[in-house]
Amino acid sequence: MIDPARPPVEHPPVAPQPAVEHTPAEQTECSRAGCRNDAVWALRWRNPRIHAADRRKTWVACDEHVVYLREFLSARDFPVEVAALSSPRA
Ligand SMILES: [Zn+2]
Repeated sequence: MIDPARPPVEHPPVAPQPAVEHTPAEQTECSRAGCRNDAVWALRWRNPRIHAADRRKTWVACDEHVVYLREFLSARDFPVEVAALSSPRA
């Protein structure tokens, strides 16, 4: 039964689903769905419509998908910063 007093829940406009909501520091696998490559980039972004100004989400991406993910976010007018992941891979 749908309660007519309650509007339907709005789905967030973000389509791709990173595996985790918050990114542990040790995550090194690309956030692109289905990609298992080592991530070498970190994308810090927020959705101004649902996130507070100081809220940041982090995706990580391999060389191949960093452009895709950055374009995906910037196409939605989400502020996004891309930084190289410092991976101590000695
Ligand atoms: Zn990838």
